[in-house]
Amino acid sequence: MTATSSPTSPTAAGTVLHGVPVVAGVQYAPVIRPGTPPDLSADTTAELAEGERADEVQRFTDAAATVAARLRERAGNASGAASEVLAATATLAQDRGWLGAAEKRIKDGAPAVGAVNAAIDQFVEMFTKMGGLMAERVTDLRDIRSRVVAQLKGLPEPGVPVPDEPSILCAEDLAPADTAGLDPTLVVALATTLGGPTSHTAIIARQLGIPCVVAVTGLDDVASGTMVMVDGTLGTVTVAPEEAAARDAVAAAERAAAEAANWSGPGATADGHAVAVLANVQDGAAARSARETPAEGVGLFRTELCFLNTDAEPTVDEQATIYAEVLEAFDGKKVVVRTLDAGSDKPLKFAGHPDEANPALGVRGIRIAENNPNLLAHQLDAIAEAAGRTGNQPWVMAPMIATADEAERFAAKCRERGLTPGVMIEVPAAALLAEKILEHVDFLSIGTNDLAQYTMAADRMSADLATLTDPWQPAVLALVAMTIRAGQAAGKPVGVCGEAAADPLLACVLTGMGVTSLSAAAAAVRGVGAKLAQVTLKQCSEAAAAVLATGSAAEARAAALAVLG
Ligand code: PEP
Ligand code: MG
Repeated sequence: MTATSSPTSPTAAGTVLHGVPVVAGVQYAPVIRPGTPPDLSADTTAELAEGERADEVQRFTDAAATVAARLRERAGNASGAASEVLAATATLAQDRGWLGAAEKRIKDGAPAVGAVNAAIDQFVEMFTKMGGLMAERVTDLRDIRSRVVAQLKGLPEPGVPVPDEPSILCAEDLAPADTAGLDPTLVVALATTLGGPTSHTAIIARQLGIPCVVAVTGLDDVASGTMVMVDGTLGTVTVAPEEAAARDAVAAAERAAAEAANWSGPGATADGHAVAVLANVQDGAAARSARETPAEGVGLFRTELCFLNTDAEPTVDEQATIYAEVLEAFDGKKVVVRTLDAGSDKPLKFAGHPDEANPALGVRGIRIAENNPNLLAHQLDAIAEAAGRTGNQPWVMAPMIATADEAERFAAKCRERGLTPGVMIEVPAAALLAEKILEHVDFLSIGTNDLAQYTMAADRMSADLATLTDPWQPAVLALVAMTIRAGQAAGKPVGVCGEAAADPLLACVLTGMGVTSLSAAAAAVRGVGAKLAQVTLKQCSEAAAAVLATGSAAEARAAALAVLG
C-alpha cells in the first residue's frame, strides 16, 4: 500500500472533487485511510562483517517467505479476482529476480533493510521503463517492500484498518494485497488519488461491486473521519455534503441497482427502440458465464487474450476448437470475433513483434498481417472452420484499422472464406474516413478505449492521464458521432465495444447518436440494459445533442444527466 500524506488543510464542506469513475453506485460514509506504512529508511553507510552476512541473508529470506505465506493464506480465504490478485502478489514476493538482487547486496555487506530497498528500487525502475502492464505492477512491488521491511524491523504488517462501521476507504493508491481482503459491508466505496481504470483498485472494486472513483484530485486533503459521498457514476467525491441530499442520492442509486438486477432484456429504450446489448468475452468460459446474463450475443471476442501464454502459433485446428466454444455458448446468437490484436500492451510470443520505441503506435493489430500474412490467414481459416463445426456464422472484425485500403484487403480475405467482414474504429483516421471504409465492410465497431488513447494522445495505461482518456471527452465523442453518421448514411450497423458502452449513462448517449449495438463486460450488461429501458429514444437523442455541444468531459456528463436523470 502506498502511504497517504496526512491532510494539511481541511477541505470545505460541499467541495466536489473530480476523478475517473470506475464502478457505478453512490455511497455516503466516513473516510478511513490506510495505516501509516513502516519507516523504510536504512543506514546505507553500515556494512556487515563477513561473519554476519550468512545470518542476515537467512533473516531476509525468512522475512520474504513469511510475507509470501501470509499473502497466499489470504488468497486461499478470498475468491475470484481477489484470490488471483493476492496469489499473483505472493508469487511476486518470491520472485527470484528481486530476491536474488537483494541477496547479492547482503552478501556484499549491506544490511537486509537497505538491500531490500535498493533491490526493489532497481526493479521499480525496470518495470516503469517497460511500461504498460509491467508498470502497473510497481504498486505491488512497493507493497511487498513495505511488508518485508516491516517484518525485518519487527513492526506490525501495514494495511487497511478494519472499520467498526461502514466506511469509505480513501488512499493515494491501494495495493492488491489490501484491496483483495476487503469486506464490502464495511468498506462500502473506494476512492484513490492515483490509479487508472485498469488498476488493481479498479479490478477489485468491480469484483466487490462497490462504487469506486480513481485519480481524484485533492483527495489527499480530506481527513479521516470526514463524511463524504462517493459517486461512482459521475466520478465525484463530495466532501461533507448536506446529509439529507446525500442519503437521497444513495437511495436512488440503490433503486437503480435493484432495477438492473431485474432487467431481463432484450435491449431497448422505454419506447421500444431496439439496441442490441451484447457482451465482451475472451474465451469459452467467459462466454458461458456471459450467457447467464441477458446479453443477446457477443459484440467483442478478444481472441488475442486466448494466447497470451502461448509460445508457438496454435494450429488452425486448435484455434478452431477455442473459437467454437464461444460460438457454441451463444448458439444461434450474434458473435463478433476480433482477429488478433497483438502488440502494445498485449504482446504475443508467436507474433514476432519488432523491438519498438512506441509499441502503441507500432506494429499492432492488423498491422502484424503486413509482415506475417499467414497469421491472419490461419486465424480466418480457423474462424471459418469453427463456423462450419458449430453452424453459427460469426461476424469478423479487424483491430487498429487506419486506412480504407487496409479495410478493403481485410474484407476480401474474409469474403473468400464466406465470413462477414467489419472493422474496429479505434484510430482517429478511421473515424474520419469511416464513409470510405464502409464501402468495403459490412459493419463497424467503435473501440472507445483506443479511440480515446489515440485522439487524446494519452496512454490508456497511464494513471496520470486518466482524465484525458475518459470516453466522455467531447473530442472522442465527436469522432464517435461522425462514425455513427457514416454508418447510418451507408445503412450499415455501427456498434460500440469499448468501455464507453459499459457506462449506463453514456450508453444512452450513444443510443441517441444512433448506435445499433452496445457491447460491454458481462458484469455491466444488466446496468446498461436497465438504464436504457428507463429512457426514451427522444431523451437519448436530446442527451447526445447536448453532450456534443459541451467542451469538457465533466460538462458532457452533466449535460447527459440533466436530460437522462
Ligand atoms: C477498444 O480499444 O476500445 C477495444 C474494445 O479494444 P481493446 O480494449 O481490446 O484494445
Ligand atoms: Mg482496442
